[in-house]
Amino acid sequence: MNGNKVETAADKSENLVEETVLDGSTSTSTYFESYEDFTVHRLMLEDIPRTESYKRAITLSNMFKNKLVMDVGAGTGILSLFCAQAGAKKVYAVEASKIALIALENVKENNFADVVEVIQSRVEDLPESIKVDIIVSEWMGFYLLHESMIDSVIHARDKHLKPGGTIFPEYATLNCALCSASPLFTTNWDNIFGHKMSSMKVLERQSLMAKPQVEMLEEEDILSVSRNILTIDMNSVTVQDVSAIRSKVFISTHKSGIYQGVVLWFDVTFPEPDEENEEASAEIVQLDTSPFSPQTHWKQTIILWPEDREVEEGDIVAFELFLGRSNPESRSYVIQLSELDAATEEHPVPCECGSAKCDVVRAFLENCDDNNEDQDMVSIN
Ligand code: SAH
Repeated sequence: MNGNKVETAADKSENLVEETVLDGSTSTSTYFESYEDFTVHRLMLEDIPRTESYKRAITLSNMFKNKLVMDVGAGTGILSLFCAQAGAKKVYAVEASKIALIALENVKENNFADVVEVIQSRVEDLPESIKVDIIVSEWMGFYLLHESMIDSVIHARDKHLKPGGTIFPEYATLNCALCSASPLFTTNWDNIFGHKMSSMKVLERQSLMAKPQVEMLEEEDILSVSRNILTIDMNSVTVQDVSAIRSKVFISTHKSGIYQGVVLWFDVTFPEPDEENEEASAEIVQLDTSPFSPQTHWKQTIILWPEDREVEEGDIVAFELFLGRSNPESRSYVIQLSELDAATEEHPVPCECGSAKCDVVRAFLENCDDNNEDQDMVSIN
């Protein structure tokens, strides 16, 4: 590992790419105040892939009939309305911010006041006696973990979900790939009304590197296959599991281009519909925020390197990514990106970086697995 130094930038070896933090509202009161803003809720409601996937997952699963449900962070109450529409017996719509008052109006206007009980409270402050069959929540932030709202869902699960209960969504993954970040660099600093401003170019890069950039990338900006760096099972994840994530990534580029940084995105998967229920849809609903799917308000999150570099198809790049809570109380994360030397660093086994050596090891291991399976079959027979 080359520390935090960027190997190819010999003249810039002091450049570090680390501790890039998105502005997170760290105090609880500021955090909830931010959700009193009408435009935040409009943005979420108008995010069609987001809201539609929750609607499909809830209304098509047929799991909600006569069930007790908790909507953790109900906002305007939209997910609670879907649950009521899907036949829930009772929905606790729990919302800490003043938008709860609007949720109540929305519930009344849609004639679900007998099913949905809006509770303006932090979910952490609810009485233990409330028990539910299903928890629904839209807790995901930029790069999945920003805002740390997952802590509140974990808390609600441990305190209020009956044994064997279900959580919507059930799984989440965080993924990364190498990228060029052309949407971040739209100014031609070589021609500002006929004048050059190279220093502005340097300043621009420094300022963009100072924190993760939330921007929409196009499919063509992605230079490598993607790698999963975190998988969360909502049935069992703990706050500790998501407090610090460290992942070494070895990856090969699938096309030539200008490599400017690493892009992060997430997906969530809703529970499999109940097969025994004839009316249930067979579809497993997934909400994917990658550049290959319709864009959402989460866009993608880009961590930039100090400078551009050209890569050829098949080049192998290695880096370590660390995401950790700034402090135990904080809702925001520190993200640290360090370059590794793909030639000298020990690759994991098996490794999918695409190098000839790792391909041979992988093929060998797969062959061993196949032989073992054959042996199992022989011994069974
Ligand atoms: N479910 C709504 C809103 C999602 S945004 C929708 O899908 O449109 C997340 C909401 O959760 C915000 O309104 C925020 O105020 C609320 N929230 C976050 N943490 C909470 C907590 N611990 N207790 C109650 N509400 C919370």
